[in-house]
Formats: sequence, C-alpha cells, structure tokens
Amino acid sequence: SKMTANFDPVVTAEKGTYWQPFTANRALRANPAPRTMVSAKGAYYQTLEGHKVFDTLSGLWCTPLGHAHPLIGEALQKQFEKLDFAPSFQLTHSGALSLAQRIADMAPEGMNHVFFANSGSEAVDTALKVALGYHRIKGAGNRFRMIGRERGYHGVGFGGMSVGGILSNRKMFAAGMMPGVDHLRHTYDPKHMAFTRGQPTWGADRAEDLERLVTLHDASTIAAVIVEPVQGSTGVIVPPVGYLQRLREICTQHGILLIFDEVITGFGRMGAPFASQRFDVKPDIITFAKAITNGIVPMGGVIVTDEIYNTFMTGPQNAIEFCHGYTYSGHPLAAAVGHVVLDIMESEGLFERVKALEPVLEDAAHSLKGTPQIADIRNIGLTAAVELKPAEAGAGVRGAAVFEEALKQGLLLRVTGDIISFGPPFISTEEELKTMMSTLGKVIESVG
Ligand code: PLP
Repeated sequence: SKMTANFDPVVTAEKGTYWQPFTANRALRANPAPRTMVSAKGAYYQTLEGHKVFDTLSGLWCTPLGHAHPLIGEALQKQFEKLDFAPSFQLTHSGALSLAQRIADMAPEGMNHVFFANSGSEAVDTALKVALGYHRIKGAGNRFRMIGRERGYHGVGFGGMSVGGILSNRKMFAAGMMPGVDHLRHTYDPKHMAFTRGQPTWGADRAEDLERLVTLHDASTIAAVIVEPVQGSTGVIVPPVGYLQRLREICTQHGILLIFDEVITGFGRMGAPFASQRFDVKPDIITFAKAITNGIVPMGGVIVTDEIYNTFMTGPQNAIEFCHGYTYSGHPLAAAVGHVVLDIMESEGLFERVKALEPVLEDAAHSLKGTPQIADIRNIGLTAAVELKPAEAGAGVRGAAVFEEALKQGLLLRVTGDIISFGPPFISTEEELKTMMSTLGKVIESVG
C-alpha cells in the first residue's frame, strides 16, 4: 500500500493532495490541526488538538441523532451481511420498498411516491427533471422555465446551481446555467425583521414577485418554482407569515409545480416530519436528504404527488417511464439506516423533543441581543442564526476569528462570512443549547 506506516494527517493535509469541497484549501493546509476531526460520539467531535467540541450544526445539518449511535452501527452490519448491494434498475429489494412506504406515510396527504437519489444535489436535479417530464407528458413541453430564489441553495448540480441564488456558487460557472431560469427576490430585510423570534410578520408580499415573473414570462412557459421553506445554507432566513401560502396559491392558479427543497428541513428539524406540515402548505414535490440517514450513508430523494406519479405511469407497460436514476438509488445500506433512523426518531419522540427545544434555543439565541457586534438573531424549529456585523478589516474577518476562538472554547461553529448558523442535534439537552449560546457570547466578546 502507498499509505505510509507513520501516516500523519497534518503532514498529509499540508501537501494538498486532498482537494476539499467548499474549503479555503490553502488556509486549511497552512494550519490543519485545529480543523482535523479524529472521532465523534453523540453531540461532540474530538479534534486532533484534543478539543472536545459541541457539534452546533449536526455535521452539515445531517446528524440530528448524534454520532456513533449503536443501533445504526448494528443495522449497517446486519444489512451488509444480508444484502450489501442490489441494482435498482429493473430489480428491487425490500429495504427500499419499505422505506419508500414509510417516507410516504410521513409525507403530506396525497404525496405517496418516493424516488431515491444519494444527496441533496441529486434530489434537486431529480425534482427539476420530474417537473420537466411531467409537463411534457401532459403536452406542455413549452413549460421549460424554472424559478428559484435569491440566496437559495439547492446543491451544486447544474440544475441546482442554476436555480440557486448564492452569487459565489454561480459566478465561476455562468456558462453552465440552465436556460430559462429566473429568481424570486429573497424575503430578508433587516429593517423590518431584525431580531424576530420565529416567523417575521413582514414580507408575505414578497410572494407577489412570482406574479411579476408570470407577467414577464407567461405562466405557460414556467415548469416549477423551487424554494427552501426555510433558507438554510444562506444563514437561516425564516419565511414571513403567509408567504409560503401565497406562493402555493399563485402556483396553483397558473399550473406551476411547487417544489419544497426540504434537504435541511425534512425529518424533524421543524418539529414536524416536513416543513410542509409545520407551515401547513403542500407542495407538489418535496426533496429530502441529510437527516434521513443521519448523515451516515448518503441518501437523498424526492416525494411526489399521486397526480405527478400517475402522469408518468402511462404509455406502454414495458416502457421505462422516467429515464433517470443513479447506480446507488435506494442503496440497501442507506435504506437500512433510513429505517433505523426513523425507528429512533419515533421511539424517542424526537419531533416532539425538537418542539420542546425550540423555545429553549430561541431564548438562548436571543439572550445575545444587545451584543454590540451582533447585527441580527433569527430562529425557527431547531435552527438559528447569529449574524455578526462585519469587522472594519472586512467582511468575514470577524466570523473567521469567532470560528477559531470557538473551537478552543468547545464549540464547532458553522460560519459563512459573518453569519453563524445553528442546527444542533435533536439529542441536545436544554443545558447544552444554553451553554452553546452563552459560550458564543463570550467568544464574540473576547474576539471583539
Ligand atoms: N438543498 C438544500 C436545501 C441544501 O441545504 C443542500 C445542502 O446543504 C443541498 C440541497 C445539497 O445537498 P448535498 O450537499 O447533499 O448535495
């Protein structure tokens, strides 16, 4: 083997052989030790420098049950021994069949069909292709436009990137954008909503932006609108009261499909199976990933209405209805983990627990209000964001300093620019959430 006997993660990282995703690779290479994770248990990681750090974002929003759950390890081992892989093209197996049923049972009424992928990006691209295919089968192939939203994040596939609304993820790849994509304005305006607890009451009117785009492009050219019910990656932007309802109304009125990207909000983070139920708005398509397998084996997917599924299930009996899918769609190991994750969520009443923890996180986060360096604090479900005012030295400088100091104080933070996003594990205790925010307060104070 090429691996040296004395493998040193720091020395190896310094070489930069591993080109890391969404990473300032040269900065990481210059000082990898504090950011090298060596183990994880429950809600904590251990770093190479020996710090035990609280996992404030559940990995990347994906490990709500915490790390190294013994039941998940057992399920993986058992499934490995029974059926470690089976193709899902023209063949099937019980794990994926039963997991699809279970997910459909948790989904909103009338959404009874699940297509599996392996990530959020793949789920989004699948959803966009479902929307195009649906209209085409119905004789409306001229509905080719997709409407995303500013500040939206829908992964990094060509489709998800195109409907996404974060400049840095787009500018290098302008030549690869899907044709016919437009964007709604985002709903964030600190003048009207800074330091709001839960949903802002200002901003439902921003949904009228969809009417503007309908007037501009004509509804007959628009296939779908895709939004995150709560914008996560951009730093937890909470939908104004009535906003999602209004989007639904406009879509219905014009025959446009509504896609909720629930990659972060799905499976409990809003204190309900899906944000759709939390906000009482039913989309036509839901995308999911992350929490369904607690981040342990990659899995994503799409849930569609009976109307969409039935539209595809026409034509010759032996014809493949949707020429789309992935080698690992419905992977047996992912399906097995999905089952045990849902078992644990059910048996431990974790959606209820999230509901109970929501006001604890809210109070803890908003207790930092008045800190001079903080521009905004927002929250919903078991998510929150603390937005820092940019330091004089430039955007992101304060955020980076807070990240580094927090590691020393026992917090692994997710910082993008000057926004700190929180999505703690569902297994967090009230005490841990309070400590998380009080420690952040001290870190901000010491960084200045
Ligand atoms: N959609 C949303 C809403 C997300 O938050 C993410 C990831 O954070 C994705 C899609 C992409 O998921 P993945 O990184 O698994 O491709």
